[in-house]
Amino acid sequence: MFETLSERLGGVLDKLTRQGALSEADVSTALREVRVALLEADVSLPVARDFVKAVQEKATGQNVTKSVTPGQQVVKIVHDELVHVLAGDTKDIGALKVDSPPAPILMVGLQGGGKTTTTAKLAKHLTEKQGKRVLMASLDTSRPAAMEQLETLGRQINVDTLPIVKGQSPVDIAKRAKQQATLGGYDVFMLDTAGRLSIDDALMAEVAAVRDVAKPHETLLVVDGLTGQDAVNTAENFDSRIGITGVVLTRMDGDGRGGAALSMRAVTGQPIKFVGLGEKMDALEPFHAERVAGRILG
Ligand code: GDP
Repeated sequence: MFETLSERLGGVLDKLTRQGALSEADVSTALREVRVALLEADVSLPVARDFVKAVQEKATGQNVTKSVTPGQQVVKIVHDELVHVLAGDTKDIGALKVDSPPAPILMVGLQGGGKTTTTAKLAKHLTEKQGKRVLMASLDTSRPAAMEQLETLGRQINVDTLPIVKGQSPVDIAKRAKQQATLGGYDVFMLDTAGRLSIDDALMAEVAAVRDVAKPHETLLVVDGLTGQDAVNTAENFDSRIGITGVVLTRMDGDGRGGAALSMRAVTGQPIKFVGLGEKMDALEPFHAERVAGRILG
């Protein structure tokens, strides 16, 4: 995902490290190159600008040019700033509010972003890693195939799904899921809402109605990481209209430029909680900013 960015940043920072003594002009030149590398990776302009400004300020504050290993110091500052832009002050990696049963998790997003797959992956994660009993329900009344898809995945991973009842509205299904989760003693119930190809008022109204009934403890936006700025715009839109508590970036196994990951937190104020790394049910990982920053810097 971050190959090109990694190569570019690695090149710029390597040059600095090899140079030995540095002038302020050397640092400024390098930071200009860092900015270009970020923009080429599809990081949003204000995020790239703030990033470089923060590194510049810290480098000046720490008198980097006067230190014994100036290049390495700059690399360290860039690393810390990458962690900051990726995660803000978040310390709880992959933490979800699932402690008061039955805890509702609302899964939202556009069609094709990976919502149904991620619902199942996350259910598997909660079951196997946290010992939770999970119930999944599909609210995609417009696409029967989507409901069956979740049922099939549920069987595959051994997680229960709410029986499909034809003719019910998404709100009715949400109510039934809540009732079943309570009666059945489930720890968590996950609601896989319908998606559309683009954001429209009907979709938002439907998701908002479900949210009002389900009162989710977590509302996770699932969005395709390969779509760069579009992913960030989608997140902003869902957050302002529905209110999200976190983002799952899918297709991080693909060859996107990584801009969505780097801009998401700064632009939307919402943390990336998990990343999807493939089609298999195990291909989901808590988002680990330190590791990602390490990977970017090589
Ligand atoms: P939905 O319409 O948002 O529910 O999307 P789906 O869950 O049906 O996913 C659409 C396609 O993307 C499916 O073929 C998934 O297997 C695939 N997919 C989902 N997440 C990932 C991921 O992290 N990596 C890759 N490579 N494919 C994914």
